[in-house]
Amino acid sequence: MVKTKTGWQTQIQVQDLADTQKLECTCRQCGHVHYLYKATLTGREQDYIDEVQATEKCWARGCGGPVRIVFVRTDELSGFVGGMA
Ligand SMILES: [Zn+2]
Repeated sequence: MVKTKTGWQTQIQVQDLADTQKLECTCRQCGHVHYLYKATLTGREQDYIDEVQATEKCWARGCGGPVRIVFVRTDELSGFVGGMA
């Protein structure tokens, strides 16, 4: 149960994400960036972000390197967050 990894990645599941929440995936090898959304991760709602990070690969052609995931706030519009009707 004890994880040495710290922070939100081990505590937040895909299902906890707001629909507008963007996950910025930066390749550790080539620096290519792509974004994931809740809608992109259909079927992985139970996965924690660190699991997504562990399995997600760089989208750059011919790379496929490991990525680092960072939260990007896109809900400046407000009102969307929290109200899961
Ligand atoms: Zn890459």
